[in-house]
Amino acid sequence: MFWVATFYLGLVSSGALALQIRLPPEINLPNPEEVPGLFQGDIILDGVDPYNAIGNLKRRWPSTNIPISIHSYFDKYDKAVFHESMREIEDQTRVDNEDCIKFVNWTTEKAYIYITTGYGCQSQVGFTGKAQPLTLGALCRFKGTVIHEMLHSLGFFHEQNRPDRDDYIKIINENIKKGHERNFMKLFPPDINTQGLPYDYNSLTHYGPTTFSVDHIKPTIIPLKEGVTIGQRQGMSQLDIVQLQRLYKCKERKLIKPQTPGMVTPNCTFDSDLCGWTLIDILPPLKNNTWTRWSGETVNYHSGPVTDHTFNTFEGFYIYVNAFKNYNSVAKIQSPEIAPGDYCLSFWYHMHGRDMGSLFVNLVKNGMAWKLRGLKGDQGNKWKQMKVFVQAPNGGKIEFEGIAGNMYRSDTAVDDVLLTPGSC
Ligand SMILES: [Zn+2]
Repeated sequence: MFWVATFYLGLVSSGALALQIRLPPEINLPNPEEVPGLFQGDIILDGVDPYNAIGNLKRRWPSTNIPISIHSYFDKYDKAVFHESMREIEDQTRVDNEDCIKFVNWTTEKAYIYITTGYGCQSQVGFTGKAQPLTLGALCRFKGTVIHEMLHSLGFFHEQNRPDRDDYIKIINENIKKGHERNFMKLFPPDINTQGLPYDYNSLTHYGPTTFSVDHIKPTIIPLKEGVTIGQRQGMSQLDIVQLQRLYKCKERKLIKPQTPGMVTPNCTFDSDLCGWTLIDILPPLKNNTWTRWSGETVNYHSGPVTDHTFNTFEGFYIYVNAFKNYNSVAKIQSPEIAPGDYCLSFWYHMHGRDMGSLFVNLVKNGMAWKLRGLKGDQGNKWKQMKVFVQAPNGGKIEFEGIAGNMYRSDTAVDDVLLTPGSC
């Protein structure tokens, strides 16, 4: 259901909005990855060997420069999504300016990926040594889905095919649509290689809870761990990125763990909770808004970050002021009290959008506020760091004050707040 909702809303608005809204069960668009008759729903077998890919290094692309061509059928909007998807794979697999996966325009290479239209979303798994289709039907042209299919082309099966999957999920066989049971089969080495990395509920290659369900509602997969979601189609998880880097022998990014929840400190990555930061109500005549803990894209197009700063994936959280229908509103959030002394306050901010408002860093005590630093207007479409010297009095708190602009393209986000003793 989650996946279908994401997909449906993706047609009319941004993906992030879909996270918040669940559609009633009677609205059931087909999952475009569920193509009848294909192995694993969206995987095309080429008749050579059904279980190869990442277990078989012959199915790894011989170079990290992957030739790709896009059919002229697609319009500029589709093409923009494909290019954005490729760029995201390139950006997220690059570490310390060392490139990993690069997509290059196909010229004369014998083996290459060609993006074409057709029924559903389909790909072969890994390198085939010849021209290989990556089919993206009308319902598949969203970044997360495109990257999912590209991961198949680059050599990955679905996460729930791992040999250790029964320790993490339960497959409900009686709810699986007849004839699709094999989509849920386990694969074993040497056919599949988990590369020493743990099972990943967050993987972009994991099926959703109702994929291939008899009625799209009854679950086919139940996670054994509580509170996890499966089947996200926003983007690669941290482990997806490392899987790709490891398969192609690239430099690997460091995995970052979410912090311990409930710890009260001004330092916060916002990945587990607000770390004791408090939302402040704004009184009239000012228009009240609020900082929201969020992951992935914000609800407004052309504004706000797509990934957090800590993880650089959709998995990580940040806080932001949602400008939608909140023009010129004010949002305040305050840290727990900090011990008196001199500090360097470091944090990352994202202020992108044509209507961008302002962000102030304040020092507050007993209802009094001193503005330490302010930013106004568009600061570029990226996370940037700010360092502010703070001389904290007894009972002092740090405050972020976000003021939305005149229109919706003014989402202001903050992440990775770190207070260290001393000067900056
Ligand atoms: Zn797939």
